[in-house]
Amino acid sequence: MRKNPLILMKISREKIGELLSSYDKKKLKIATLCSHTALQIFHGARAEGIKTIGITTESRKKVYEAFPLGAPDEFIVVDDLRNIPSEELADENAILVPHGSLVEYSGDKLSELKVPMLGNRQSLEWEKDRVKMFEWMTAAGLQVPATIDPDKIDRPCVVKLAGAKGGRGYRVVNSPDEFYEHFEGMNVTVQEYLIGVRVYPHYFYSPLSKEGYRASEGKLELIGVDRRFESNIDEAYRTEKAGLAFTPSFTVVGNELLVVRESLLEDIFRMGKNVTEAADRLFGGIPGPFCLETIVDENLQFFAFEISARIVAGTNIYPHGSPYTAYLYDEPMSMGRRIAREIKLAAKANKLQKIIY
Ligand code: AMP
Repeated sequence: MRKNPLILMKISREKIGELLSSYDKKKLKIATLCSHTALQIFHGARAEGIKTIGITTESRKKVYEAFPLGAPDEFIVVDDLRNIPSEELADENAILVPHGSLVEYSGDKLSELKVPMLGNRQSLEWEKDRVKMFEWMTAAGLQVPATIDPDKIDRPCVVKLAGAKGGRGYRVVNSPDEFYEHFEGMNVTVQEYLIGVRVYPHYFYSPLSKEGYRASEGKLELIGVDRRFESNIDEAYRTEKAGLAFTPSFTVVGNELLVVRESLLEDIFRMGKNVTEAADRLFGGIPGPFCLETIVDENLQFFAFEISARIVAGTNIYPHGSPYTAYLYDEPMSMGRRIAREIKLAAKANKLQKIIY
């Protein structure tokens, strides 16, 4: 019988465990795709004394070589960024660090990559599927925006294209007619439009230590908080002032640092802890970095509409640490460096399997 090419062979946790046990723990390397948060990941690994491998195309290599302190120690040049050379990486004792572009480029192939990956690769399946992601957020007790049937749109809603990344193609609609005018026959999600301030906390969950804010079997660190700049909504006041017609759009262009009102930290930690513990129950946990996308309304209520189960680009703002890591570490600590630190600590304690799948 011919093998159906659509059926991918998920690699098991046991197989990754076997692979990992064959690694030389004194010569571990950190690898990632040259994109998204790669400069920060390589820079952080360098600070922790871990060698790095950057997977890149020939043309992109120049960009990374332009930043000597953020460049990887070695490059693996590929024709297509969708092809992660997993076996070559495993031969190099490499641990792959997933980020947004890596998840996007490798798509369904991610689950079959034969190389140890930081975190629980199952969590990435939960972030990719909006229905599952909402199940996860609801299981964590988070307040979420209502999902609305297109025929019952009775308030401002944001329509999200399936798989759209970085807000591209999103649009606000106010009625079923407006919805069908723009999205007839398309695979989309319709969500109640939340009004408030966007607050995107970046967390790191470590099962290796209990010192700090307790969550699951370990601790939760708040590494930073960002907000995004989206085109064109975030410059709406200029467009309106110029008297131009304006249809809001939400394409992410960049990020800016945010420090929240200190009394909101209690809710931020509580949400992070609940997300971590719900992940334990649903798919075996979420070691490493993750982020929540939330909107805080005028009553200081948090509503969450997305989880990123990996490092997010908002952490690129602080390669030398954020206003929050200043109270956690007596040294510059980026998310990239925190990842490398965790790998180092786990290797030393012979607990790599706790943070890798
Ligand atoms: P996402 O692809 O879910 O990260 O959304 C991209 C951007 O769209 C966000 O950063 C928000 O600015 C905006 N957005 C997404 N969902 C909502 C919502 N339910 N209410 C208001 N704005 C939203």
